[in-house]
Amino acid sequence: MLKTGLLFVFFALAVCDIAIDTTTDARNNAADDYGHIVSHFPLGVATPQDANELSDIVLFANSARVPIAAVGQAHSVKGQAQVEDGIVVNMTNINSINVFENDNFAWVGAGATWRELLQATLTFDLTPPVFTDYIDLSIGGTLSVGGVGSQTFREGLQIDNVLALKVMTSDGVVQLCSATENSDLYHAVLGGLGQFGIVVEAQINLVPAYANTLYVRTLYADIDDFLADLFVLTNDERFDGVQGFVVANDAAGLASATGNAFPDLEVPIGDFPWLYMIEGSKYYADGDVPDVQTLIGDLNHIPEDAVNVLELTYFEFIARLDPTEAFLRSIGAWYLPHPWIDVFVPRSESSSYILNELSLITSADVNGVILVYPYLNDPIQALNFPLPDSEEIVLFALLRTAVPPERALELSEDNDEIYERARAVGGTGYSIDAITLEPKEWKKHFGNQRYKDLKDAKELYDPNHIFAPSQFVFKDKSKCNNQDDDDDHHYDDNNHNDDDDHHNGHNDDDDDDDRSDDSDDRSDDSDDRSDDRSDDRSDDSDDSDDSDDRSDDRSD
Ligand SMILES: Cc1cc2nc3c(=O)[nH]c(=O)nc-3n(C[C@H](O)[C@H](O)[C@H](O)COP(=O)(O)OP(=O)(O)OC[C@H]3O[C@@H](n4cnc5c(N)ncnc54)[C@H](O)[C@@H]3O)c2cc1C
Repeated sequence: MLKTGLLFVFFALAVCDIAIDTTTDARNNAADDYGHIVSHFPLGVATPQDANELSDIVLFANSARVPIAAVGQAHSVKGQAQVEDGIVVNMTNINSINVFENDNFAWVGAGATWRELLQATLTFDLTPPVFTDYIDLSIGGTLSVGGVGSQTFREGLQIDNVLALKVMTSDGVVQLCSATENSDLYHAVLGGLGQFGIVVEAQINLVPAYANTLYVRTLYADIDDFLADLFVLTNDERFDGVQGFVVANDAAGLASATGNAFPDLEVPIGDFPWLYMIEGSKYYADGDVPDVQTLIGDLNHIPEDAVNVLELTYFEFIARLDPTEAFLRSIGAWYLPHPWIDVFVPRSESSSYILNELSLITSADVNGVILVYPYLNDPIQALNFPLPDSEEIVLFALLRTAVPPERALELSEDNDEIYERARAVGGTGYSIDAITLEPKEWKKHFGNQRYKDLKDAKELYDPNHIFAPSQFVFKDKSKCNNQDDDDDHHYDDNNHNDDDDHHNGHNDDDDDDDRSDDSDDRSDDSDDRSDDRSDDRSDDSDDSDDSDDRSDDRSD
């Protein structure tokens, strides 16, 4: 079947004058990502040079019902940009960058990376306000998930700083959308997991860039002191960036987690296996170095040797993970499986939640970074980014490396439990994770009303469900991988609409789904995100079989 499928796609694309790489190398490469956990093998890889070539590919895929997924830097951890028996669209050549320095924005091709955008904007002493910690991610890739960074506590997410988008929907047409024009498409696409179209270009907000950053790190032995100070710093905004970490309470672990930032500190301190670290970053102009004592003099960190201060250029700070990446590549850890998990919990639950999670793991279960990032709810306005119903929020994340690699599945399963424990205290997940969410779980993630809105947008902009199927947002895994045995190349029989269906964008199955959604949603007419969040949580009791479903699906 695969061979026939390949031939079909190859000939069809040749007729349409579209180049597709069907070599084993290209297909293997596209069936891998930073997670190295799952592999969905595509029929081939297309690399459009511009929106016209992209349009040919999208039109072909839509008419032939071949699933399609854009890929930026493939730094997903569980196959989110892969596509079984479909076409992977490598976006890296759609990477133009035009900085409008007098208007403080840039139009950026979605295949460009945040590093490339930063390099271009710094020429004009401008910068995007929010960066992910690691900047070799594509614009399209992070705008599809959210994009959190050290500045998020004040500036919101990367998707909160997008002024407009050019999105190619399944009809092959580029649609301009913003908060005031085609706003349903704009809000659906930002954090929309690639479900509604392919982002071709994004208009990104820019702010003046300082030349330098004072990078201050300090340690804590007590989690409550640590959390209290994190929120002192986020609330009074004395720093431009604030982040927290859990680090091992032993000499080797502390040195490796901090780049030996605290060489004179005697560890262990006490008998708990973990310490905590706050990183504050303060931007400044040349010759105007901020006073460290003013910045951290009133904090309750471990005294004396537990403070490290570096003067970096702004670029060095934003690209601060460059040395870490080089090191991880050199020892091979970059290429091992990465079963990551990120959850958001309300500040009020964060101390007990984190202590419990830390009691269940050792350093050997992580082999990577443990994040404790403080956020405030207000600056995060994006509709597709559900957060706990709390003004102060904590992101807790295990950025694991599976050592040995055979532990990847076991650690992914542990992630499901970490996620459920977060939900039990009013938490939410970040959609980038190595956990298996399918429609029922995504509905709980987004909340009833938002999920219904997104489902409506899906039917409008991608009625044949061709885009990014491996996110499993609207169709579960078994349907997405259910290629017909008779070689008719429809990726999902349930989506094989007849002509009438095309006109109204619905099919029978989906009408059924919609009906059940409607009944689920009867008591939830509010658009209010916080309502969605609390409804969301109460869904738990209704869907108590969900975790069973997930483990069943994995064994499938
Ligand atoms: C080392 C590392 C560090 C990270 N640090 C952070 C961090 O600090 N903060 C944070 O928020 N996240 C972070 N992430 C997670 C990262 O933001 C997401 O995994 C992101 O989606 C990866 O971008 P990418 O270009 O690799 O996307 P890909 O993996 O290529 O794609 C991700 C999803 O987006 C879709 N997509 C890609 N391009 C487009 C497009 N043009 N149009 C529509 N859909 C598209 C894909 O189909 C897929 O569904 C990190 C990940 C790694 C591996």
